[in-house]
Amino acid sequence: MHPELRRDLWVALSVATVGGLLGSAFGHPVTGVSVALGFLITLLFVKLARLHRWLVRGRPSPIPELGGLWDEVIREVHKGDRASERHKERLTGLFDRLQAAASAMPDAMVVLTQRDVIEWANPPAERLLGLHAERDAGARIVHLIRDPAFGAYLAAGDYHEPLILKGPVDPLEVIVQIIPFGAREKLVMARDVTHVKRLEEMRRHFVADVSHELRTPLTVLQGFLETFADLADAKDDETRSAIALMREQVERMRRLVDDLLSLSRLETTPARAHDEAIDMAAFLQGLSSIAVALSAERRHVIEVEADGPDLIGNAEELRSAFTNLVQNAIRHTPAGGTVRLSWRADAVEGRFAVIDTGEGIAERHIPLLTERFYRVDSDRARASGGTGLGLAIVAQVLLRHDARLVVESALGFGSTFTCVFPSSRLKTGSLRSPLSPSAV
Ligand code: ADP
Repeated sequence: MHPELRRDLWVALSVATVGGLLGSAFGHPVTGVSVALGFLITLLFVKLARLHRWLVRGRPSPIPELGGLWDEVIREVHKGDRASERHKERLTGLFDRLQAAASAMPDAMVVLTQRDVIEWANPPAERLLGLHAERDAGARIVHLIRDPAFGAYLAAGDYHEPLILKGPVDPLEVIVQIIPFGAREKLVMARDVTHVKRLEEMRRHFVADVSHELRTPLTVLQGFLETFADLADAKDDETRSAIALMREQVERMRRLVDDLLSLSRLETTPARAHDEAIDMAAFLQGLSSIAVALSAERRHVIEVEADGPDLIGNAEELRSAFTNLVQNAIRHTPAGGTVRLSWRADAVEGRFAVIDTGEGIAERHIPLLTERFYRVDSDRARASGGTGLGLAIVAQVLLRHDARLVVESALGFGSTFTCVFPSSRLKTGSLRSPLSPSAV
């Protein structure tokens, strides 16, 4: 038993005994004990009232001296209070430091509630997103960042890829990333990428300018080499083969320059400007003629099938992308092999596929194929006349048509390159009777 409790019990017992003795002196021992206990209970209530007042008034007021076990209880409460006070101070300090660190960051940070209402924002959010911490707290973020792309990004809920947005003032551009946390709350982060974008633009312009400048000298060289080839002494094998090699290399450079210019045009011009409904059956017939011409004496079997609604897109860009796929299929399929061009579309999506029975591609190369200048076998690819830019062009064109490229291949068994278009790119109501597979 706690010594203070023992002492208090002794005091209570002594008071009751004294009360009893005094009571018996007057012939009423029970009344004496009752009066003594009543006195003790009153005292207890007085102390309880003082303790209650101290607890209610708040801890800074002086600690009451109640004596005995009461002081012990008050000391314990006070100790707990001090500990939680210190804990609170530590947490407040940590929170202040975190806020100071977040405010010192050059990137914008905005905390959103479950309903996408702004709860807190650091100072850079004003410059990068046009949001003011105090003024805009409590407002829905989509009412302040009005770019529809941001609204769609926030609503979609898939934040794996960041979003590039125009900043509140020109020429500011920011990259926005949303990080969900807690119970469906979100952290919006934005970084200034104006500088990176400007560098990227400079690179694009540089490549476009250099390619453009190279065109004229290459045309001149090509012209002279043709003349030399005509003039060269038919018996002079060395000169003839040197001129043939030079013509071949100049031709390769010309193709490279053309592909680089195509890529830079695709990167710089706005998409959708020349979109139209494309009659896919006719389009595929045109591609099959190109395939036949490219195959020439290698005599591939070219098959065509078209079924489903027409495609909406830029015919020139799509022709260039699909021709690249056809060219690759012919290039990488041995003479006599089959190349099949297929268009199949339903209410969900449209799929244009080039299927060949050629050499195939090992799995490890597949994710890298659309990178610029990536070649599975560089010597063979160069010898076959490839620039290493064909699939990069295809990827760029598909990006501008909200489509994706799916590559399936097995070494020695052929490859299938499929361009998958969303239903928004299909002309509804243009269902046509299927063009059954036909050899050309
Ligand atoms: P290139 O202009 O050199 O053909 P691409 O970007 O078009 O460049 O293709 C990249 C590489 O992918 C090629 O070097 C080739 O090795 C491989 N490739 C593309 N299409 C096919 C195909 N149908 N069959 C086998 N390999 C292919």
